[in-house]
Formats: sequence, C-alpha cells, structure tokens
Amino acid sequence: MVGIAYIDDAYVPAEEARLPLFDLGFLRGDAVYDTTSVWRGQFFRLDDHIARFRRSMAGMRLTCPHDDAALARILATCVERAGLDDAFVQMIVTRGRFPDPTRRDLRNAVHRFIAFALPYIWIVWPEKQEIGIDVAIVENRRTPTEAIDPTVKNFNWMDLQRGMLQGLDRDADNVVLCTPAGHLSEGPGFNLFFVKGGRLHTPAGNVLEGITRRTVMELAREAGFAVETGNYGPEALHGADEAFLSSTAGGIMPVTRIDGRPLGNGAPGVVTSDLRGLYWRKREAGWLGTPVASLLAAPAA
Ligand code: PLP
Repeated sequence: MVGIAYIDDAYVPAEEARLPLFDLGFLRGDAVYDTTSVWRGQFFRLDDHIARFRRSMAGMRLTCPHDDAALARILATCVERAGLDDAFVQMIVTRGRFPDPTRRDLRNAVHRFIAFALPYIWIVWPEKQEIGIDVAIVENRRTPTEAIDPTVKNFNWMDLQRGMLQGLDRDADNVVLCTPAGHLSEGPGFNLFFVKGGRLHTPAGNVLEGITRRTVMELAREAGFAVETGNYGPEALHGADEAFLSSTAGGIMPVTRIDGRPLGNGAPGVVTSDLRGLYWRKREAGWLGTPVASLLAAPAA
C-alpha cells in the first residue's frame, strides 16, 4: 500500500504504523479526527479542516502537541513522502494511555497524535458517479446528539457501520441513517443533499458540519440556487427530484435510487451534475487551495 503515516514522532510506511493495545483510542474508541484532501498538489480548505479538528479536540478535552503551522507541515510531509499528487489525509488525536495503568484517571492520560496520507479515496468511484448510486434509508438510528455530539468528528462509528451492514443486506450501495426522531441525518462519511423544485435541502440536525457540505452551500448560492436546512422525513428523499452525497472523500456524488426505486428520472440530476462539475473544475484550478510544496518550503518554527 502506498502511503505514509506519522506516529510517535516518526514517519513510517502507512502499512507499518502501529497503535499499542492499551491506547484508549482503541480500547474505548476515544479519539477525534479530521480528514482533508489534496488534489493536484493542493490541500483544500486546510485551515477550515484544522479549525474543525481543534473544535473536535476541545469538545472531547483532547490536545495536540503541534500548533497549526507544525500540523500543516506534518500533513504536507506525509503527502510528499508518499509521493502523492491526489491524497486522502487524516489527522487524529487519541486519548492515548494512562501513565500508570492501575490508576485510570482520564484527566491524566497522555494523548497521542497521528497523521497519514494515502492515495485519494472515493466513497463512490468516478465511474459509478456517472451512473449514480442506490442509497438505502436503514433502520439503525444515528447516535443521538445528546449522547455523542456529531459535530465532534469522532471514531464512534458503530451506528454507521451497523447501518451500512443493513444496507448491504438490501444490496444498496450506501446508506442514510435517521435521527432517533426519524429525520434524515447522514451516512458513513458523508452529508446528504436533495433537490426539490430547484431548491437544495440538507438535514439540519444530528450531522457533522461537513466542509464539503459548506462548500456545496456556497457553490449553490453562487450558482443561484436556494439552500435550506431542516428536519426532513424519509418521504422527502423519496419524493425528491435529485439527491447527492457530499464528502471530502469523493466530492459531490449523485444518488439515483432510493431503497431500490429510481429517483426522479433515474439518472444523475442536472443541478447535481452542474455542482459536481463546478466543484472539480474549481479544485483543479486550486480554489481555496494550499500547495503542499508551499508548506514544505515554509521555515519550520
Ligand atoms: N458526516 C460524517 C459522519 C463524516 O464522517 C464525514 C466525513 O468524513 C462527513 C459527514 C463529510 O464531511 P466532510 O465534507 O468534511 O468530509
């Protein structure tokens, strides 16, 4: 596997990166993270990703030993050493370990910072995006906001994983989970949008505030479309003209079937295709980008 990880202050081939068994990120699922991407040598909205990472850490009282500039340089070094032009780049902080394993005071845990760069990952492969995917609205609920704040990007994915297994059992390509109150929320690694009568809609609650979601809202308004957030039931998605997923891992990805039934005319929608084209054209042109090379050239603090 191509890829480089940074763990315990060293760069290693991603395949060789190891976490000790007693890291609480593993034993308790106690970790926050953020995923950004590099396209044609440029990070996208890197400052926004780092800011969200810091908010996630603050939300879980986790800390990172690196300031923003040092963090960006580590991410850039992973990308550069992996030799990647297009990359999936993750930063993680785990609760780490107790200095004395017999005294389990969470406040004393020594947190662990990890980063890695892998070849760009697509939740929906580009060939499949031309056709669009089948999304199932599954039974398993998204964890309630009152239990785990979804705006804190975290590794507690059991609800999403269980939902995905339910969707795969129904031969769906991917899944959307509802909130405990039965409103549409999001899926494993993406936010959801649907289009009805030329207006875009995206669930308001119980979701991660995706950077791509924000980007879609900005692009859509720029292109003259109204965007609304709200609480929507599954019937709103079934009755939509178009739908798509948004994620760092794949951009804007058309949905053409819901629960096995064609959505709209069964092909990727016009609004979806326009926004998808705009997103990638702008990214190719370095929109909101930070060149990997510029971070490596900056003097280290
Ligand atoms: N929702 C969840 C649960 C996610 O894990 C992700 C990304 O990994 C997203 C939404 C999309 O967020 P972004 O656009 O910042 O990648």
